[in-house]
Amino acid sequence: MSAQIHPDIETVLLTEEEIRTIVADLGAQISEDYADRNPLIVSVLRGAFIFAADLMRAITVPCAVDFMAVSSYGDGVKSTGVVQIIKDLSTKVEGRHVLLVEDILDTGLTLKYLMGLINGRGPASIEVATFAIKDIPGNRPAIDPLYVGAHVPNEFVVGYGLDYAERYRNLPFVGILKPEVYS
Ligand code: 5GP
Repeated sequence: MSAQIHPDIETVLLTEEEIRTIVADLGAQISEDYADRNPLIVSVLRGAFIFAADLMRAITVPCAVDFMAVSSYGDGVKSTGVVQIIKDLSTKVEGRHVLLVEDILDTGLTLKYLMGLINGRGPASIEVATFAIKDIPGNRPAIDPLYVGAHVPNEFVVGYGLDYAERYRNLPFVGILKPEVYS
């Protein structure tokens, strides 16, 4: 089934089918690594909610979920480096195996901040699963995630949970937004 290309999308980077394969592979790997550890999946809102929901269904071992809401871009397309916690966890992470689930890693500053925050609460372990990572030539993200779904070019991408000004999260594929939409 071919994805219906949206008029604001320049290029489709990951089709629905490719996303399904990526998530199934990550789920299998995580299930193997976290057998008997009852991981606490921490989904970073809002962008990661769709990936987290799919990933959880691809994980076959017992696991729990909680959510954190952060804002790093506002309504823009550039990271400000300032992370605002809008909603904190309801679950105590002390002694838990935390798996932070993120939509996309750009500078990595958002996750570095969140990892520091959660680490301060005494988890048994903390790892990161990111659906995508941006390949920025000559630039390494501030953290090195254990689970990476896909590499995408250094462009502003939307779909599969990722927004621009709260739009496009519902696209079932990941695509590059036409620059004229945000410039
Ligand atoms: P970082 O702190 O790694 O620079 O930025 C991470 C956050 O910025 C992601 O969680 C995501 O919300 C947002 N972000 C980074 N790149 C993109 C992108 O290409 N598209 C969208 N929609 N959000 C992005």
